[in-house]
Amino acid sequence: MTGIDVERVRRDTAGAERVAHLNNAGSALPPRQVVDAVVGHLRLEEQIGGYEAAAEQEERIEHTYDALARLLGAGRDDIAVVENATRAWDMAFYSLRWAPGDRILTARAEYASNAVAFLQTARRHGVRVDVVPDDEHGQLDVDALRSMIDDRVRLVAVSHVPTQGGLVNPAAEIGRVAREAGVVYLLDACQSVGQIALDVDEIGCDLLSGTGRKYLRGPRGTGFLYASPRVREELEPPFLDLHSASWTSSDSYVVRADARRFETWEGNFAGKIGLGVAVDYALALGLPAIEARVTALAATLRARLRDLPGVHLHDRGARQCGLVTFTVDGHDSHAVASALRAARVNVSVTSAAYARWDFGARDLASAVRASVHYYNTDAEIDRLVSALPQAG
Ligand SMILES: *Cc1c(COP(=O)(O)O)cnc(C)c1O
Repeated sequence: MTGIDVERVRRDTAGAERVAHLNNAGSALPPRQVVDAVVGHLRLEEQIGGYEAAAEQEERIEHTYDALARLLGAGRDDIAVVENATRAWDMAFYSLRWAPGDRILTARAEYASNAVAFLQTARRHGVRVDVVPDDEHGQLDVDALRSMIDDRVRLVAVSHVPTQGGLVNPAAEIGRVAREAGVVYLLDACQSVGQIALDVDEIGCDLLSGTGRKYLRGPRGTGFLYASPRVREELEPPFLDLHSASWTSSDSYVVRADARRFETWEGNFAGKIGLGVAVDYALALGLPAIEARVTALAATLRARLRDLPGVHLHDRGARQCGLVTFTVDGHDSHAVASALRAARVNVSVTSAAYARWDFGARDLASAVRASVHYYNTDAEIDRLVSALPQAG
């Protein structure tokens, strides 16, 4: 396995000179290749017209599907490119049909937007939402999941890496349980894609959502859905348009067969091209090399924080990734983030409102989230540590 040439990737990253960007789980710094592709397409639209630019750049636009397919071990027909991970996830989730008494199994660490969608569906359709307990490491307990399966379970939906910490849920073990039971498995890979190698066959998911701007370092306002041929045909999207379906006679329509049934006709074409460039950039570095460096930097940061009096780490999981969450005694997490921002260290704050089932159970109101990427350095970690307010 080859390592990452940190100097080179930092040269590609204009923002790396200005700021210690440890908010990659929020929105990573894009490499110049991505920005150039996006700006270049906007310039072409300016010069020749939007439709004409799309026609001229069709190959590059189509390449994004190939790149995402390669990234996920999927086929190009299994990919939809949409505006964010939430819409990708929604288009999949709201395609499912429900009967009263159907059950959804999910994880403690589930993301707020997904949880709200479950609760809305529970209210509308009399569906039950059952949260699978964590095991002793704080990851979804796979044995508990297996024991909770019955013939009313219609969906297993979990976040691979939650927004609020370094936990990596055992996605492939969950997939085995879902496949044995013949239950649809929807994986939210928003925080894992771009930092962890993903293979949809190995994971065994039917549906997977991701975003462009986080660990993939793509443009904002881009996301994607993987929808396997196994389930796709059964899932009629909640919204259709003349791209996702054809109006075949005055009173009929046919939904398209590929995953683009989850797209709309209009979209951000510059962003779509930029997303493909971002995926190519990640693939060229190699996901195993990316994961190795991200994991090592995060472990260094955790070790440094663990040494500080009054600083508490909150990451869970047998396997941990690039998200590092902590609190400092006597200081509100927002105040800590502001102090770091003043020292040109970007972090974010994750709060119970994003993860009630998890932070609620742990009685945590909020935590500082520092999320490292492969272009970060030990010197930047030093800068974070030395800019932290003293515990009070
Ligand atoms: C950020 C995030 C999302 C939402 O992604 P968007 O692209 O902002 O819609 C979904 N799930 C998890 C776990 C996230 O961290």
